[in-house]
Amino acid sequence: MVFDPTNFSNFLLLFTAWGGAFIAALWLSLVIWTYRDIRGRARDPLARILAILVVAILFLPGIVIYLILRPSRTLEEDYQHTLEEEALLQAIEEANLCPGCGRRVKEAWIICPNCHTKLKKNCHQCGKPMELPWNLCPFCGTPAPGMRREGLSMDEALRPIPSDSKEPEETLTFNDEVIDESSNI
Ligand SMILES: [Zn+2]
Ligand SMILES: [Zn+2]
Repeated sequence: MVFDPTNFSNFLLLFTAWGGAFIAALWLSLVIWTYRDIRGRARDPLARILAILVVAILFLPGIVIYLILRPSRTLEEDYQHTLEEEALLQAIEEANLCPGCGRRVKEAWIICPNCHTKLKKNCHQCGKPMELPWNLCPFCGTPAPGMRREGLSMDEALRPIPSDSKEPEETLTFNDEVIDESSNI
């Protein structure tokens, strides 16, 4: 069989055409992929246009550059991350900390076992636990006996613990009150 240059050039032409079509399809796919990808990662229209331009102009090296420079998180992931952070922050804020020693205390605790600070007060009507700043029992609606000042909560916190070793001044004042009351009567 004699070598036919026409056949060969035809084949070469066909091959080039096929290769060209493949590369054109690849280029278009990459541009479309980049468009979809950057749409989910950046809100800035300029960043989107730049990303598509880099891939469209530089083609394969462009896609490498895009993969290196694109935002690491998608907008969806970013949103989820923000939600998680907010939830975590809220959990930290809501975590019950003892105002006396700063340790974590449980919701149901009335007294901190570590520093004996009173964490809650009992309603004098129904006996249910109330937060210290509350001046009204949410269970029975009875107003708490007036203790609006913040300084009082600490004094009040130290008083009702029976096991606590009382300081002499405190005992004295207590005694004075008793004496005063009895003398008044
Ligand atoms: Zn404490
Ligand atoms: Zn009550």
